[in-house]
Amino acid sequence: MEFFDNAVNKAKEAIDIACKKTNEVVSTQKQKFDVAAIENKRAKDYEALGKIYFDMIKDTEIEDVAVKALVEEIKDKNDKINKLREDINAAKNKRSCPNCGAAIDNLSVYCNICGAKLEFASGDEADE
Ligand SMILES: [Zn+2]
Repeated sequence: MEFFDNAVNKAKEAIDIACKKTNEVVSTQKQKFDVAAIENKRAKDYEALGKIYFDMIKDTEIEDVAVKALVEEIKDKNDKINKLREDINAAKNKRSCPNCGAAIDNLSVYCNICGAKLEFASGDEADE
């Protein structure tokens, strides 16, 4: 009987260890998920901080080579985005507000988003 009890106890121990390991795996998976979720939120914080910093330094003389390169990269991408938006707006008979970038009707005098007064570029008069 003692042999049987020992065998049962050993089996129980093995089950306990297996359960503990399963719980650890589940717990680790949840922790990994939590880390990923927090990393995503942190990436947004970095982005917001970067935007504030970019606006602060974009028109200044930048000495740090790495910072300068990133500012140039962002300016380059902004130019590409603006160019593409202009093309999209032209196709829709709209243009982008020079102040806020919103798509506004070609004939509008004021931006209906930010209220900026819009001027027609020369040779850009509406031809209706
Ligand atoms: Zn505007």
